[in-house]
Amino acid sequence: MKPLFLAGQWRQGRGAVARSVFPADGSLNAEFSTASIDDVEEAIQAAHQAWQEPSWRNSLPVERARVLYKVADLIEQNVTQLAALQTRDNGKPLAETRGLVMSAAATARYTAACLETLDTELTNARSKDWLTMSVHEPLGVVAAITPWNSPIASEVQKLAPALAAGNAVILKPAEATSLIALELARLFEEAGLPCGLLSVLPGKGSVVGNAIVQHPLVKKISFTGGTSTGRQLAHIAAERLISTSLELGGKSPTVVLADADLDLAVNGVIYGIFSSSGQACIAGARLFVHTQVYDAFLQRLVAKTQALRVGHPEHVETQVGPLIDEKHLSSVDAYVRQAEHDGGQILVGGHRLSEGELAKGSYYAPTIIAGLSNQATVCQEEIFGPVLVVLPFEDEQDLVQQANDSVYGLAAGIWTENYRKAWQLARALDVGTVWINTYKKFSISTPFGGFKESGVGREKGRLSIVSYMQQKSIYMGLNTQPDPWCEG
Ligand code: NAD
Repeated sequence: MKPLFLAGQWRQGRGAVARSVFPADGSLNAEFSTASIDDVEEAIQAAHQAWQEPSWRNSLPVERARVLYKVADLIEQNVTQLAALQTRDNGKPLAETRGLVMSAAATARYTAACLETLDTELTNARSKDWLTMSVHEPLGVVAAITPWNSPIASEVQKLAPALAAGNAVILKPAEATSLIALELARLFEEAGLPCGLLSVLPGKGSVVGNAIVQHPLVKKISFTGGTSTGRQLAHIAAERLISTSLELGGKSPTVVLADADLDLAVNGVIYGIFSSSGQACIAGARLFVHTQVYDAFLQRLVAKTQALRVGHPEHVETQVGPLIDEKHLSSVDAYVRQAEHDGGQILVGGHRLSEGELAKGSYYAPTIIAGLSNQATVCQEEIFGPVLVVLPFEDEQDLVQQANDSVYGLAAGIWTENYRKAWQLARALDVGTVWINTYKKFSISTPFGGFKESGVGREKGRLSIVSYMQQKSIYMGLNTQPDPWCEG
């Protein structure tokens, strides 16, 4: 049975035994041990001690950066094994998991470079009596809690800046993807991260996750996952007066204007919703198409969707893999049945796939639904599956109103040849990221996060390290004379 990683030691957790299962065929990847409440306590106490060690607390940025550069190199050197492991954990096709692993390496390297160039600010050059400056200091122990859909990328996005800032981190990965998180711990260990600064504690969110975020020594919750879990954690953080960063769900709109390059747009829309089998927070799940091109666009969209290669995630030709598990497949299917009940017309898909080797896994056909309004349940709730709802529009004011009529505000896509119009639309949409004539592309230096119920705070970018620090202002008196207030 796989051990967990607790304060530099590989040992059996004292919680229940858990299983990692390959979503493509239900075969067992491995059994692993989960943490008990006592394990959580031990890991947090060790983390608290480790981050205060002078060798870490007073370490130079260049020393912490060295660990992250090494982690980046190790991730890259192990890309094939890590991608294979992540595919076994969550069923994403290999081409995608390879991309996620490389993105994790890039994050570690970028964060190291930012750390080396982070400035301390002199805040007042106007007074002759004193000098003031603002320095950033670590928070202490950070809880990093992650979902199963893009684990290694989301995990490094938290671990790299939190450790760069001089904190210690307790990582609680999603139950389904604990193996890849443990492998990541091995690479941080090999890179020379001092003992205690990182523990990886698999287990249930309601038990292990809850014990971590409630612990008095935890000073920040960095969470990626569903909005309802994020809301619960925000309540706990508010009660404890600690900071959070919350990367939550989405129901992102994509807009095809009448002058769009339809071939480009069709490919972008399909990639935006059906890659990762739609199990992406940024999936472009609501598609608004101008009435002038609606029929022509839908014809191409349906034809291309029908031609997608759904299959085993380890086969190179596969474009769409299985869903994470049967429970999730039932939830996706229930949404599709709800759409039918609400008057929706299924243009393609709308059922599970079970021919040949697909019978062993949780495969769902890429699905397109038309004939509903933006008020329909499938337009308002996050399905997290390969389901696209298409809505025609004519008036751009009305389009903006509909696109923004959502509790979510994570991302949006715009397809048009008119960049002036695209700019205006981009500014009018209430979302954290807008892609124009592209979709689901990421630059590590560009901040990412949501508006509205899609999140609080931003990850990536130069300021990610600072988000794991607190500011301290220091005044240094320059006067050689006593203060007149005390005289006499
Ligand atoms: P989830 O909220 O069910 O779980 C996420 C993590 O939180 C898991 O590790 C889980 O064990 C833990 N958790 C659950 N309850 C907890 C509790 N009470 N206390 C502490 N930890 C707890 O989400 P999921 O199903 O794993 O992931 C899918 C969701 O994640 C989707 O809504 C998706 O949109 C979102 N997501 C968002 C982003 C983003 O960057 N905005 C990225 C990926 C996924």
